[in-house]
Amino acid sequence: MRRVRAGEVPFDGGTARQIEPDRPVWHGNGSDDYVCVECANVLAVAMQPVQMTYKVRVRCGRCGTVNVSATDEPPPRRPRASQRDR
Ligand SMILES: [Zn+2]
Repeated sequence: MRRVRAGEVPFDGGTARQIEPDRPVWHGNGSDDYVCVECANVLAVAMQPVQMTYKVRVRCGRCGTVNVSATDEPPPRRPRASQRDR
């Protein structure tokens, strides 16, 4: 995971919030665990890379840092301005 850059969080609120610090937000069936960039708290376990897209964000339940899935891909462009994705 990495830290969210300023202005990167969209207004449509796509950030999941971890309520209990000891309980990961997601349990997947893949091979990757995701931890907080700030305090290394486990946010999601056994996730597949395809599940951790650019849009996946988690607010750490321990330190409050908003994490975004680390990826080498540039932020995706919205193909159509009229297309809603919420
Ligand atoms: Zn944290």
